[in-house]
Amino acid sequence: MKTVSFGKTNVGMKRTHNEDAFYRNDERGLYIVADGMGGHRAGEVASKMAVDSIESHLQGQKHMDDRSLVDAIYVANNNIFKSAAANSRYTGMGTTVVSVLMTDALVSLCHVGDSRAYLLREGRLIQLTEDHTYVNEQFKNGLITEQQMETHAMKNVLTRSLGFSEKLEIASQKLDLHPLDRYILCSDGLTHMVRDEVIAEIASIPDAVHAVSTLIDVANTNGGDDNITVLVIDAVE
Ligand code: CA
Repeated sequence: MKTVSFGKTNVGMKRTHNEDAFYRNDERGLYIVADGMGGHRAGEVASKMAVDSIESHLQGQKHMDDRSLVDAIYVANNNIFKSAAANSRYTGMGTTVVSVLMTDALVSLCHVGDSRAYLLREGRLIQLTEDHTYVNEQFKNGLITEQQMETHAMKNVLTRSLGFSEKLEIASQKLDLHPLDRYILCSDGLTHMVRDEVIAEIASIPDAVHAVSTLIDVANTNGGDDNITVLVIDAVE
């Protein structure tokens, strides 16, 4: 099975620069979204380093299996961590990552942080990733409600990200690729601005270019508080 994709990133309405980065390659079946953080534009450096490290590590692999993507993210984490330690301008930089690697009809999905992956299958939108955030942990423990989570002062605080420690826990899962499946990878600039029901509706627009552009437009219409990245991947026979 083949996949075809379309992706776009947008600075949003409030920020002066874009700290998101993404990569897509249908030939290699590799897709990455990263959302960087850190002062002095270090966020841009971190997200780009994540994308470049994953991409080049996998380029060097002769044989891909379900460990390949996990290993590539460990390499990315090390590169960012070392670079942050070696350069005071980069102190404290980090990034989220959500990445998909297609090998035949098998999908490896890995993520760290709050950039998300959704699967649109037979008209239903399923959130595949769980946000690694403080508020999501509080919510899971029954300490705050879903509504409180959305307006919480610490809603942007991540519990996991690349670049902060040599140790990293990567969430990974394997899925079977079905014909007509659509995967959506995105940064929180989309999910903080657009409700899941609306994402589901717009993500169902058959034309990927139109779907991606509309999702970004709606995030900006709703305020565009942050950088917005949306990557749509369609399985085709
Ligand atoms: Ca963000």
